[in-house]
Amino acid sequence: MRECNVCKKPRKDSKFKNEDKLTCSKCEDRPYRKFLRLLVKERQLTPHERLGNRLGYMGSGLLMMSPYLLPYDNIGAYTYIMGAILCTPQVWLAKQWNLVVININLLIGYGIYIFG
Ligand SMILES: [Zn+2]
Repeated sequence: MRECNVCKKPRKDSKFKNEDKLTCSKCEDRPYRKFLRLLVKERQLTPHERLGNRLGYMGSGLLMMSPYLLPYDNIGAYTYIMGAILCTPQVWLAKQWNLVVININLLIGYGIYIFG
């Protein structure tokens, strides 16, 4: 006899799909539970995605402080460009094309601001 972790009722061992399961078959096979399980896709991040995440944090930090640095000898414009460059790999790997477009727009806009 084991206790199901969902319905909290004591069940026979034969009511569980295998030894490791904590949820009884009756609770596990409910349509709503099956639907929820269908929506969740478990996976680990690849090394490139992890690196992109780290760069993304750095880039976000630069983008956050850029508006406050803009009045001081245009340092803010350079940090905007650095932030856009560092944020792009993360959003590119995640295929978030709207954010890729925003980063490219930042690069072009502040490139013109500095060099134009
Ligand atoms: Zn149960």
